[in-house]
Amino acid sequence: MPVNYSIEEMTGKTYGRWTVLGGLRKQTPKPKAPNQTLCQCSCGTKRWVQLTGLRNGRSTSCGCKSKEMHSRMIQRYAPLPKSFTEAA
Ligand SMILES: [Zn+2]
Repeated sequence: MPVNYSIEEMTGKTYGRWTVLGGLRKQTPKPKAPNQTLCQCSCGTKRWVQLTGLRNGRSTSCGCKSKEMHSRMIQRYAPLPKSFTEAA
């Protein structure tokens, strides 16, 4: 299994909601620290994301995806009471 991912290869590609903008840095100054690259989420959030997380599919968004799924679940299982929306 390759350990070193080529950032040139990944730049411009999309992983889930992330688009790889490029650039490379270490998460911490330690030599064995994971490499990160700058990504932009489809919602506009830019963040340094671990290369391994992108490649193995563990990181697919800045967190907006799980937030959306969570709110959808709330709407589905606990709809707002009518009086609540009418009062506003
Ligand atoms: Zn996002």
